[in-house]
Amino acid sequence: MQGQLESMSEPSAEQPLIERVAMLSVHTSPVAALGGPDSGGMNVYVNELSRWLARTGINVDVFTRRLDQTTPRILELEEGLRLIQVEAGPPHPVHKDELFCHIPDFASDMAFFALQQGVRYDIVHGHYWLSGWAAQLLKEHWHAPTVQMYHTMAHLKNAVATDAHRETILRLQIERRLVEISDGLIAANPDERKEMIHKLGAPSDQIHLVPPGVDLELFQPHDPEQARAELDLPDGPIVLFVGRIDPVKGIDTLFAGFKRLLDQRDWAGAEPTLVFVGGELDDSGESPIFGDALQKLQQEARELGIESQVLFRGSQTRERLPLYYSAADVCTVPSRYESFGLVAVEAMACGTPIVASRVGGLQFTVRDEQSGLLVPHSDPLALAAGLERVLTDERLSRTLCAGARRAAIRYSWQMVSTSMVEVYQQLANIEAAAPIKVAR
Ligand code: UDP
Repeated sequence: MQGQLESMSEPSAEQPLIERVAMLSVHTSPVAALGGPDSGGMNVYVNELSRWLARTGINVDVFTRRLDQTTPRILELEEGLRLIQVEAGPPHPVHKDELFCHIPDFASDMAFFALQQGVRYDIVHGHYWLSGWAAQLLKEHWHAPTVQMYHTMAHLKNAVATDAHRETILRLQIERRLVEISDGLIAANPDERKEMIHKLGAPSDQIHLVPPGVDLELFQPHDPEQARAELDLPDGPIVLFVGRIDPVKGIDTLFAGFKRLLDQRDWAGAEPTLVFVGGELDDSGESPIFGDALQKLQQEARELGIESQVLFRGSQTRERLPLYYSAADVCTVPSRYESFGLVAVEAMACGTPIVASRVGGLQFTVRDEQSGLLVPHSDPLALAAGLERVLTDERLSRTLCAGARRAAIRYSWQMVSTSMVEVYQQLANIEAAAPIKVAR
């Protein structure tokens, strides 16, 4: 398959070398606290990929929209990696559906920044459709090839969304348009690649398959008993959920399935506890803020009669998450759609089995019956049955625990960044030989 990165070659003397990359993350910063409505896998991805690229000697500037008046224009995150605050729209949080009209300003301010700094970029890498559009507008100013990563695609979200949560026609149109005008597209898994070809009309040789990675040093198995004690978790089986509070995450299925799990068996005084990680934390970083989203979930848990068995822990730092994963008997990812599902890979890296929906990237990262169980999405009964199997069948649980880490080590960031440099290099070579496509 073209775009698949088996043939890694040293650039020859004539090939342009990748020295500087502009990474665009318009609507959310790679250093934002995670677990909020707009901060999850993409933030982790941009942060990790940029760090790993910087370690290979490439200068990476990550551009994000300014959200306050106080953060300096340039933040040096580590050697070779800078975070640039871009002036576009009001300097406070704005819903992402209202950001499109500020994208021209975003592109202009980026161009101005490059002019002031006297730098040119060899590649412009856009994340999410808003950044993809900014990358295209930049072609008016820069002659650098663009790489687009969707992270989520509107038509896939809409296929499983209720009317209130449907993505806009504008987003659907821009996502199609980005296929025509981007120089390269990154698909995180074969499913996403298929969608790009069949639903967005992308030519297959424009798509490069590069899965995201996991920090295998941070996400390692810890002693489960010590982890439980440190996190002050109750005795009995622990089912863990980690993720943003978003309809696509299937939290309704999770609650209904968990209720079923509690009801369908006599747990003889050792009922499972659902530990819910996600939502915001207060300023001390200690307690979850029961803002609208978490309060609503608490209310739903009360209505279902499961509140005594659900622990809401708010969002957690990456440093704490390995403890949560290690303390859990099973981590569940009941999403309706998931382009990759970093949580599943992180949990597996900690040796924790998964019960996940058979959707998107989860079909490739979770090895069914080897590192976890795949169940149909939006099906509480199937979810409950999967969870019960893992919690009560010791032999299965041992097999899955052993298979989990093995499944996760296929996704190292080092491999991902090496593959990405190869994509950048290919596109730079093509660009050197032919003019770039310009958005009109
Ligand atoms: N995450 C985190 N703290 C939280 C909740 C989530 O660090 O409280 C991280 C989680 O570890 C994972 C990312 O956010 O790396 C979520 O990525 P995933 O691909 O699972 O979901 P997405 O947010 O992309 O839908």
